[in-house]
Amino acid sequence: MHAFFRSLILSLFLIGSSALHLLAHEGMWLPLFLQKLNEQEMKDMGLRIGINEIYSVNNGSLKDAVFIFGGGCTSELISSQGLLLTNHHCGYSAIQSHSSMANNYLRDGFMAKTQTDELPSQGLTATRIVRIDEVTSAILNEAVDQNGKRNEAQIQANIQALKEKTAAETGYTPVIKSFYYGNQYFLFLTEVFTDIRMVAAPPSYIGKFGYDEDNWMWPRHTGDFSIFRIYGDADNKPASYSANNKPYKPYRHLEIDLSGVKEGDFTMVYGFPGQTQEYLPSESIRLLMDRTNPARIELRQSALSVINSAMRQSPETQLQYAAKQSRISNYWKKWIGENRGLQKLNAVLQRQAMEKEFLKLGGSPETLKALNALEIASADVQIAYETYVEFLQSGPELPKFMRSYLSALESISSSKDKAELEALSLKTRQQIASFYEKTDLKVDKAIFQETFPVLKKHLPASYWPESLNAQVEGRGLQVFLQGLYESSVFASAKKLQAHWDKSVAAGQAQPEPALEFVRGLYQYLLTVVQPAYTTANAERSALMQGYMAQLLKTFEGKRRLYPDANGTLRLAYGKVEGYSPRSGVRYHWQTTLRGLLEKYQKDHPDFHLPDTFIRVAGRQDFQPYYYGKDLPVAFIGSNHTTGGNSGSPVLNEYGRLVGLNFDRTWESTMSDIMFDPERCRNVACDVRYICWVVDKVMGGPHLIEEMTLIEPSSTRMR
Ligand code: ASP
Repeated sequence: MHAFFRSLILSLFLIGSSALHLLAHEGMWLPLFLQKLNEQEMKDMGLRIGINEIYSVNNGSLKDAVFIFGGGCTSELISSQGLLLTNHHCGYSAIQSHSSMANNYLRDGFMAKTQTDELPSQGLTATRIVRIDEVTSAILNEAVDQNGKRNEAQIQANIQALKEKTAAETGYTPVIKSFYYGNQYFLFLTEVFTDIRMVAAPPSYIGKFGYDEDNWMWPRHTGDFSIFRIYGDADNKPASYSANNKPYKPYRHLEIDLSGVKEGDFTMVYGFPGQTQEYLPSESIRLLMDRTNPARIELRQSALSVINSAMRQSPETQLQYAAKQSRISNYWKKWIGENRGLQKLNAVLQRQAMEKEFLKLGGSPETLKALNALEIASADVQIAYETYVEFLQSGPELPKFMRSYLSALESISSSKDKAELEALSLKTRQQIASFYEKTDLKVDKAIFQETFPVLKKHLPASYWPESLNAQVEGRGLQVFLQGLYESSVFASAKKLQAHWDKSVAAGQAQPEPALEFVRGLYQYLLTVVQPAYTTANAERSALMQGYMAQLLKTFEGKRRLYPDANGTLRLAYGKVEGYSPRSGVRYHWQTTLRGLLEKYQKDHPDFHLPDTFIRVAGRQDFQPYYYGKDLPVAFIGSNHTTGGNSGSPVLNEYGRLVGLNFDRTWESTMSDIMFDPERCRNVACDVRYICWVVDKVMGGPHLIEEMTLIEPSSTRMR
């Protein structure tokens, strides 16, 4: 390994130990280094257990209770029989997939009375971290020359080789991730469980109480939880679904502390934060605020205006579009909050001040200058890429589907034999059926109509291809859409199936003019936008790697630079505390059931509560979860979290579960770019509210019996 990296790695360790107490509460820390970097501060703030309890490779520790849920959430084990707690919004797609108009679990909730009633959720996974190892030297081996120049192809080859070797040696699934923009690498050995069953989901009036209006807001009263169970084979190992599988027996499950929390209490959030970008140069922040976020926000806003009104009009559409609507609206609102927060922080100016400080302390001006210049020079291609991606992901579904249909068509003539063609046909048939079942073409057409002009508005003129002018706008958008959605072979599953059958019979794709639009669009994206974006991105990554290395060195002992979130296991810690969102207003740290009932609005679907719930709540029968008269529902704290931390356990000073993380406040959402300890707060559902809902509202005392409840001691009762 090159000497530069050796000294850099050494300095990464030193930074933490010499610069404690600089930025309390900020940071998502690798559990591996807590002892070295954070233990003293955590103890000073109230931690009462050893770091070994939080992370240990050789003994069951809290990390063995914290699992990645699906592709992008966190979950935790709350019983010795594999019971897994996560957010309602994390289980949402799974709940939706089990729902029908006859059994609308999404709307009405679900409770498996026995284990045989639990519903296998195909495609869902839960992942345990077996161990974490630093592998920087193995990955950079022979990949960095004397001048520090990196050979990215060699780095990728080293990653691949190490993964293969580790998988063969251990039988687990290794994941290698880059930290600090390629200045460090860690290997995460994982165990991926694939038989995950749905156990309980609250009705939407609890799990989504307040819907979009309350999303990202405080005060909050959403019971954002759902419960699943991990199953393993006879050896307690991951296995695909089988009726013979058994509930997973974990190394560790979380105890539930019924003592609750009070303001000032120490808390930790253990989970898998997805992505932050805390070290962006000032011009990147400017681009994000001035162009990227406004384009994404407006595109999503236009899609939502169609989806929301369609969902209001029909219960079928409501069920069909529930997950899509939630996904789109979630980040639509997040980005609005993020931009406001960044403006309030004067983020560009603040970052420029930090850059000046960096230069004053001896940081090299060349890399920083080059980085900021690149952001300006590549702004158009970045905007083009992001806007097209946003249009394709949050806009109409048909273009994406047409593309996969087109590639199936193109494979007909290249199929080697009859068996290959039959397999292709079967797959295509299924895809056609599922697309038309999931998509309401009228709604999709309206989404296209609303979002397309917004796409055009935000795209730099140099990234608007002639083909879109000719094919889409030629005779007017309306006429184009009518042709596409009403007269082309895509107008119905039946028509498309016939087109497919005809193409298969002829041994080649049959002509269909509508396909020209999608062929032209994707060809343009793949041959013009993507290559230009990839080139700019590669240049940016190389510069960021050098800049980050310099930041770490320059600020050594002055600022504590934690690694950006990248979907790996992290611990954040902070305190239960309120905040002031604006002058003259102070938010209390806790909400209660009384507040939830006060929000009730009979005629407002987002704040509606059924009489049964109001009656049960009115009984004030909260014991043994709570002995007072007004059950706590949610609380906020100064733990640094982001998307992916959804479903993370909020643990107290003893490492016991007191809350379920599910959101941040709107004033906090800029924390992915710039954290403000004064205002950034994570939002958690109080575990006592979850227990009460499971037991007394959803009729699940049998689930409570599985859990390990720690009774409140009289001295600690809150
Ligand atoms: N509720 C958020 C999400 O769904 C979690 C967060 O970002 O804090 O992504």
